[in-house]
Amino acid sequence: MTGDESLFSEKPIYRQRNKLNLRNAAALRFPGVRHTSDSFRLAARETEVWLRDQQAAICGAVIMSGNLVTRIPILVKDGNRFFIIQIHGKLRKESERSTIDEVGKKRTTAAYLLKSAYRFEVLKRAYPNAEISVEFFFPGTGFRSTIDGLNRVQFYHKKDKKEKLADFNRLFSSVDATPGTLKVCKSIPEVVSHSFFSGQSVGDAADEINSTQLPFYSESFRRHEGCKWCDFRKKKGDEPGCWQSFFLNETITKPDRHIFELAGHGNQIQSRNGIFYQEKAEIDDGLDSFEKMYKYGGPTFTIQQRRNLQILQAKSEESPILWMKPGIKKIDEVKYPLHFIDFEAATYALPFKRAARPYEPVYFQFSCHTLGADGSLCHTWWIDLDPENPDPHPDFVNAISRIPGIFDGTVIQFSPFESQGIKNIINTFKKNSMIFAGQIIILEEIRHGTDSNYRYRFFDINELIRSYYYNSFQMEGLGLKQMYGAIKKWEDTYGDEVKDGNPEHVGYQEIQDYDSDIYDGSTAMNAWIALKNDLLSPEEKRVIPEALQKYCSLDSYAMLYLFRHLQKHAKIMDGNDLVIFSQSLSK
Ligand code: SF4
Repeated sequence: MTGDESLFSEKPIYRQRNKLNLRNAAALRFPGVRHTSDSFRLAARETEVWLRDQQAAICGAVIMSGNLVTRIPILVKDGNRFFIIQIHGKLRKESERSTIDEVGKKRTTAAYLLKSAYRFEVLKRAYPNAEISVEFFFPGTGFRSTIDGLNRVQFYHKKDKKEKLADFNRLFSSVDATPGTLKVCKSIPEVVSHSFFSGQSVGDAADEINSTQLPFYSESFRRHEGCKWCDFRKKKGDEPGCWQSFFLNETITKPDRHIFELAGHGNQIQSRNGIFYQEKAEIDDGLDSFEKMYKYGGPTFTIQQRRNLQILQAKSEESPILWMKPGIKKIDEVKYPLHFIDFEAATYALPFKRAARPYEPVYFQFSCHTLGADGSLCHTWWIDLDPENPDPHPDFVNAISRIPGIFDGTVIQFSPFESQGIKNIINTFKKNSMIFAGQIIILEEIRHGTDSNYRYRFFDINELIRSYYYNSFQMEGLGLKQMYGAIKKWEDTYGDEVKDGNPEHVGYQEIQDYDSDIYDGSTAMNAWIALKNDLLSPEEKRVIPEALQKYCSLDSYAMLYLFRHLQKHAKIMDGNDLVIFSQSLSK
């Protein structure tokens, strides 16, 4: 309810640092802007002193009133008038209205307004006679940077000062959010609050939270739809989750299988009807047994069928541990060498290079495991680590061209991300086709390969799994990490370990334990952007490159692992479905 997650953060994580970088870019339009200290107590004192001036512009202003405290991204004072300025990363079209006067149905807008309403409330209490307005800054869709390195805000004073300021002024469009904020101050929208608070004024809700009674904990503390996003819901290590600790009064045999993890539609209706566990859910499309699904389910798995299998499993009814449909045999048609390739891309509101748009994707890293027909394995990787290079794409393409045998065989990807990435880079190069003629040729050759009749030049394992593969450890979606986890668990439990012959490789868990905070695509992207923005400490500059490289290598390795598992089982298929039940295995 403080409306500011960075309030107590002494060492902002990468994403937070990049957000602050964006805020600092917006703040440059206010002459004489001052920045408060990281420590919020010190910042509160600085804010109080600086606000004694008639005019002030403060980045990270901390306002306190009683027990309430808030940090405001930019607070501008002009006599008795105060402006709360929030910077939001969401792109806004120039044609959109310049006022937000309604909360609307969008969760993101309501969340922005709830933050500003809380800030408004605290500021009003601290300065009761102030006239307060709220402005939201958004990057505009039509913006193009006129210089390289616009993202390097901290070097504003050193280079391209005038151009940078002009670009920052054009980049952000300002929207008057005062009317919408006042509405939320009076009534908290349901879409972003617990039902206990919706409809209350922000002031009443803040006082309620501050009071020692906390009545909602005792009377209204119950499971609800919002639990879906709550970190406390499920067991973590040996610690039981919230639901297991406080709500397990039903007879449940699988208390860790919650309704929210069921694939497909209908979970919201179930939780609204008081059904919170998978084993209590009903199958509503008629395919309510394995036999019926096998007989009438069709050649591919639908999301609904995956949901049905999860429910059958939760109810301990007959369901297979592995089920592959004949379509998976496509895997036998791939031509060697196989290049298991993974790209990492970054998008950021402040463009890195001249003529780029906000959030234009920048491909900054790849990892490729190349498997030869003779079983040989070769790992190639590349990463851009030069903070001053505004355009890593030419080096990225040159490095790809050095992957052994890349113009032959099959490029294996998980989702069409890599093939789309190649198309995207070609399109950006085509804007300067004379300069990048060589790179365009390389990329076109990678796209089509040496055999123009070969239809699986780019082979998507995700599509194969989505359509034709099921195993009983699939609990949380069909993403690469989830599938690697599910298949690794399957192999550890029932299979012969799928060997890759490369002892250097580690599991995702080991990557997570690696002391660098890089554990998913979003953190990898933000760590790299922080590197480009020159926001890393010397120690981070030392460890981040290796962590990024390991993270990306593991994704390409995971694809290889998945492929070998699928290939091994496809080999024993005879044209019919492959269905394995646990009782049919000797293990
Ligand atoms: S899981 Fe527990 S703590 Fe989390 S929102 Fe639900 S009831 Fe509250």
